[in-house]
Amino acid sequence: MINRIVEQVQNLFGVSRLEKIPKVILPEVHKINPRYVSAFAVSICEKLQNAGYEAFIVGGAVRDLLIGHKPKDFDVVTDATPEQIKRVTKRAIIIGRRFRLVHVIRRAERIEVSTFRALNEEGIQKDSNGRVIQDNVFGEQYEDAARRDFTANALYYDPISQEVLDYHNGIADIEKKRLRMIGDPKERYREDPVRILRAIRISSKLGFEIDKKTAAPIRAMGKFLSAVPEARLLDETLKIFTSGASLKCVDELAHYGISPDLPVLGLLIQAKDNLMVRKALDRCDARIQRGLSVSAYFIFAVLLWSRLKETFSKLPQEIPPSKRWKEAIEEVCENPITRGIQRRYIEDVSEVWRLQTRFERRTGLNPFRVFDHPRFRAAYDFLLLRASCEEVPHELADWWTAFESALDDEKEEMIREMERKVRTERGSNRTASNRLVKDSSKPVDQEAEAKVQRRTTKEANPKKQEKTTIREMSVPTEKRTRFRSNHLKRTRQKSALLSKRR
Ligand code: ATP
Ligand code: MG
Repeated sequence: MINRIVEQVQNLFGVSRLEKIPKVILPEVHKINPRYVSAFAVSICEKLQNAGYEAFIVGGAVRDLLIGHKPKDFDVVTDATPEQIKRVTKRAIIIGRRFRLVHVIRRAERIEVSTFRALNEEGIQKDSNGRVIQDNVFGEQYEDAARRDFTANALYYDPISQEVLDYHNGIADIEKKRLRMIGDPKERYREDPVRILRAIRISSKLGFEIDKKTAAPIRAMGKFLSAVPEARLLDETLKIFTSGASLKCVDELAHYGISPDLPVLGLLIQAKDNLMVRKALDRCDARIQRGLSVSAYFIFAVLLWSRLKETFSKLPQEIPPSKRWKEAIEEVCENPITRGIQRRYIEDVSEVWRLQTRFERRTGLNPFRVFDHPRFRAAYDFLLLRASCEEVPHELADWWTAFESALDDEKEEMIREMERKVRTERGSNRTASNRLVKDSSKPVDQEAEAKVQRRTTKEANPKKQEKTTIREMSVPTEKRTRFRSNHLKRTRQKSALLSKRR
């Protein structure tokens, strides 16, 4: 009976007898560069093999090594159970409910070590749509290979013998730059609809074509993505952000008709034609390709920016602009469209937005305070992006670029220069300020609006205006010196911390 079930499942996955025996590819043929292989992953395989278990590097890392890319993370697979893995390796924790596996940690590196999964359906729990919700039955290597998503992801590299084991012609597919699903694609998408997103992301990232039979059911199966937990959709969206091909992914998601109503991922699909979003994704892709990092909250800030401007313009004009700006930020952050995005990202998003109006004030202590803000870097990048979309004057972005790299004395001089400029311009700048206030679809220029308000108040109450001017323009010298020395202290602390981390 059990054999019959195994046979049926094997047919479902398209596992023939032949696929139980892998092709063995020798190092002189596959030409994997051992220098690209994580020494930590090798040491884990070595420990497991010395303890009598089988152990291989598996998945995307082998695929990337075969293409000649340096993998960003490494996964190890073994016939040892999670408890046995834990016993053999140091600093290991067993995690996961859907799939139990082990995280082995050394300094900043974390290797995921899993046990070969079985094909036997009996241990697999599915929901009413056929989506796998729990699966913790261990099996043999050929079964594990058949359970993986794409042929290119089902390759096993033994870092000790340096042989690659290939059960599903993955190497041939990699050579043809083809992403092919193992088994029946429709069934595999039903079991785990996230494979749709993986197909789109991995093919976009590697410049592979999705095999015809693998691509065919995507459009129809996309609807099952709505049953995927928000946390997994967030994970996949973050992986798209850091894929180095996020722009291509967005176009492909739309091409395959993936719903823009999905939590988190939907935001990306909705904003696909927005110029600022496309520019931001393009820049992020370029950063990732240069080996630099990107902050997820920065991309969320860009994705939600047009929503913020819209919300701001709809709030009653009687509310003072700075308050309106604050309220608009709160409203967008609380809006259900942000569902699925973790709170910590939302908090950072609102900081980046708040700093946008603070960039406008370049007098007094404000520039130092803005520069000292923990989100300065991301907010400054955001300002540059806005300038590149002609949302703010290039002059403003250039000023901050100069301020950012200036020495402290030069920073002081820049502020003084700006204060002189504001003083001479005061009065002659009325037209520009009026224009900004009238056009409520544009992001608020608080300083310009405040100026208009102050002028209006002056007519009614000249004393009040005088006070505002004094507060705005003349920070007492002792206060500035005190602030500056604190700022210097903080800058030194920051660089000491950074060099320690390095
Ligand atoms: P990346 O370059 O983004 O890390 P990856 O293929 O390594 O791509 P991981 O999420 O690190 O992706 O997964 C490691 C391996 O686990 C995959 O290569 C694949 O063999 C297997 N895998 C991951 N997710 C699935 C899934 N949803 N269904 C089947 N196999 C999967
Ligand atoms: Mg990986």
